[in-house]
Amino acid sequence: SKIITDVVCPFCGTLCDDLEVTVSDDGKKLIDVSNACAIGAMKFLHSQAEDRLTKPRMRNEDGSWRDVSYEEAADFTANMLANSKKPLMYGWSSTNCEAQSVGSTIGELIGAQMDNTATVCHGTTLIAVQDVGVPSCTLGEVKNRADMIIYWGGNPAHAHPRHMSRYSMYPRGFFTAKGHRGRTLVVVDPRDTDSASLADIHLKVEQGRDYELLSALRVAFRGEVLPDFVAGIPKEKIYEVAEKMKVARFGVIFFGMGVTQTLSKNHNIDIAIQVTRDLNEYTKFCIMPMRGHYNVTGSGEVWGWQFGFPFCVDLSRGFARYNPGESSSNDLLVRGELDSAFIIGSDPGAHFPFGSVKKMNEIPCVCVDPHITPTTVVADLHVPVAFVGVEVGGCAYRMDSVPIETKKVVDAPEGMITDEEFLKMVLERLQKIKGV
Ligand code: SF4
Repeated sequence: SKIITDVVCPFCGTLCDDLEVTVSDDGKKLIDVSNACAIGAMKFLHSQAEDRLTKPRMRNEDGSWRDVSYEEAADFTANMLANSKKPLMYGWSSTNCEAQSVGSTIGELIGAQMDNTATVCHGTTLIAVQDVGVPSCTLGEVKNRADMIIYWGGNPAHAHPRHMSRYSMYPRGFFTAKGHRGRTLVVVDPRDTDSASLADIHLKVEQGRDYELLSALRVAFRGEVLPDFVAGIPKEKIYEVAEKMKVARFGVIFFGMGVTQTLSKNHNIDIAIQVTRDLNEYTKFCIMPMRGHYNVTGSGEVWGWQFGFPFCVDLSRGFARYNPGESSSNDLLVRGELDSAFIIGSDPGAHFPFGSVKKMNEIPCVCVDPHITPTTVVADLHVPVAFVGVEVGGCAYRMDSVPIETKKVVDAPEGMITDEEFLKMVLERLQKIKGV
């Protein structure tokens, strides 16, 4: 066997790039994964599952499946998209930028509704950043400089298990030689999470009242008067945390879906960004979203270059329009406006509300995914592909918007193709149908 070093993990947006993967000499079998957290390691090991699907399968009239070739699968997909008036192309976060780019070309050709998983995650962050900008940094700067770490509305111990040990709280960096002994950790969460149990200060904010607590911090920075309690937190505690933030040498707020998808949504992020701006009057402070899926950041970047908008892109008029709430996948599904769905690199069947999934079940649906998922249950065609980041490399963006070239470590089972190759087959067919 041989060991491949500096492998990038394809599971979460932390994109840890120090993994070591042991593979057989012929590169066909993955034997072991070191340095990854449990969820990252499982992503690699799942590619070795003996019951893994290796051929596309089409739904029969009676609901059962039959195997088909990739050519038949590409024919079906191209015809479905060409015959749709309003097709949805959704997902894109667990695939590489190369596949996202081919997908964008298809979307333009057929006038699709393009949306990615940010729509149920950090889409509100993208809206806030467009409204007010963002004072951010890289994870390298956090590791080397930050002495105050704040996690707001997230539980990295479970969702991004190595985030704290690799980049924020625990590593020793250039100006942070004492590691965690030189850092203060604040966790803001209504719940007693494993991350909160590690914190120096846990602000147990009342559910859905983050906006008020953020406003109170702005008041406290100016030394003005607060009521006795704000969002369930005593004012003394708020003054204490505000003072600690002001005297920090370099601070960072990492925020998660506890603020992006609760009451006030993008306005929570607006004001968190204002808090960060206020702090830069006194010291250096940054803010960063805890992007969840592997390359969801890349999806927004690719569409940013190609369409000018990072999610909820409506191409139906031949140019890009953007209006979350109107052009977001869930709203389109619930209103019954779509007549086909192409899903890749994500699992809306598991994450969308039941009403949306039901609508997806009523229209022709193709799902490109190496796994059997709740989405494949409602699909008419399931196309298993090579695991991105395991069986094919390519570019992916880390949560701090740093692009990283990922590695292929093992061969896909014989005959299997990649997301990008399948999308290219579909594009070729669509170009023929459209005569371009
Ligand atoms: Fe992979 Fe995220 Fe775990 Fe790092 S923290 S090993 S990127 S799942």
